[in-house]
Amino acid sequence: MDHAPGARDGAYGGTDAVGVSGPGTPDPRRHIPRTDRLLADPRLREAVARLGAVRVKAAVRQAQERARAGILPPGEVADAAVALLPRAASGLRPVVNATGVLLHTNLGRAALSPAARRAVWDAAGPTDVELDLRTGSRARRGRTALAALHDRVPAAGAVHVVNNGAAALVLAATALAAGREIVVSRGEMVEIGDGFRLPDLLASTGARLREVGTTNRTTAADYADALGPDTAFLLKVHPSNFKVTGFTRAADVADLVPLGVPVVVDIGSGLLAPHPLLPEEPDARTPLRAGAALVTASGDKLLGGPQCGLLLGREDTVRALSRHPLARALRVDKLTLAALEATLTGPAGPTAEALDADPAALTRRAERLAAGLAADGVDARAVPSTATVGGGGAPGVTLPSAALSLPERYAAALRTGADPVVGRLEAGRCLLDLRSVPEPDDARLADAVRSVPGR
Ligand SMILES: *Cc1c(COP(=O)(O)O)cnc(C)c1O
Repeated sequence: MDHAPGARDGAYGGTDAVGVSGPGTPDPRRHIPRTDRLLADPRLREAVARLGAVRVKAAVRQAQERARAGILPPGEVADAAVALLPRAASGLRPVVNATGVLLHTNLGRAALSPAARRAVWDAAGPTDVELDLRTGSRARRGRTALAALHDRVPAAGAVHVVNNGAAALVLAATALAAGREIVVSRGEMVEIGDGFRLPDLLASTGARLREVGTTNRTTAADYADALGPDTAFLLKVHPSNFKVTGFTRAADVADLVPLGVPVVVDIGSGLLAPHPLLPEEPDARTPLRAGAALVTASGDKLLGGPQCGLLLGREDTVRALSRHPLARALRVDKLTLAALEATLTGPAGPTAEALDADPAALTRRAERLAAGLAADGVDARAVPSTATVGGGGAPGVTLPSAALSLPERYAAALRTGADPVVGRLEAGRCLLDLRSVPEPDDARLADAVRSVPGR
């Protein structure tokens, strides 16, 4: 929108306001500052650079309207416009995740490491994402990120990256099984959240699902019985958000590979190698070594990277996927590639640090925070707590943790504060679990608690 001072915007200023007052009755609304004068205010000028002229002018107009309506003194229009500005150019608010759920879907799953954030910033301008600067000719998109991924999983013959875990499965099903059959256990027909069911996702590609076994038990023989000329691949899906216990049985990849049909494994969590704290969580390396043709995973779960879908597998299989026309529709942008590479090669990020945190150190942090806040009159205490990995994986696994315990009313106050903190309610108290909070954010947490009115 063009801004022509004194023309269109002037309609909201003093000249127009004259018309609303009768002759001889001086109207204070005549003194409402005009738009061009307001936009010269240093605070609003700075805001135009940060938020754009459209949003700043909207705030200015809203403040002028209030003054015209007589509910704001004309001298306060500039201050009111500043107060009406959006906080940032994006409505996404940074929050402190004190839920104790390390990978919280509603909070955007994994938080990026400082190195990955820096990489995103650097990649935001023009980059050589598809250009070889040495020769000046076109180069493979995201080659350094793909090489970093391959380095971390040498058991794969080739790797590819798409938009998310679901996209990785859709690409595999489309490229390898459209019009044919995918054999899958009845115990692995899972809903991944918010009504999204993997069987529906797979069927949407035109592949047919051939269900075998039962909810609790499926053997290699069940898969073998279902094989036929139409079989495209056998699919193993990790039940990443629930646990079946008791009389259960599932076939191992090593038992399925000898059946002579490609085995595709959706491990979900994105662990590249086994993790000692998560013994039941599948990793990418193990099924590949057992002979799986393809492993799919998410980038923003236990890997701790940006949202993306990893495809790791046999060279011919991965090549068929990356060259399929659908791959173009599922490709990741340069920001994702940058963050993924920095996650794979850089220092440990918040997810790995939270997973590996020493419970005694978490207790010390909780005690220090509680002591500082109690000295200021806040009803704060340090309590033991249990954290979880979350929707991103490791169902049933609990991680010993420590929390700051506050009166229940703090939960809503902290969530709606200037620097939102999301905790959880437990037994009538608001708990801020420190395992999901990076230690440098402790001061942020304390400031947020102190800013809650009333003790
Ligand atoms: C999370 C998950 C998915 C979906 O991955 P997105 O990255 O959320 O698209 C698919 N399968 C399993 C087993 C999962 O855990």
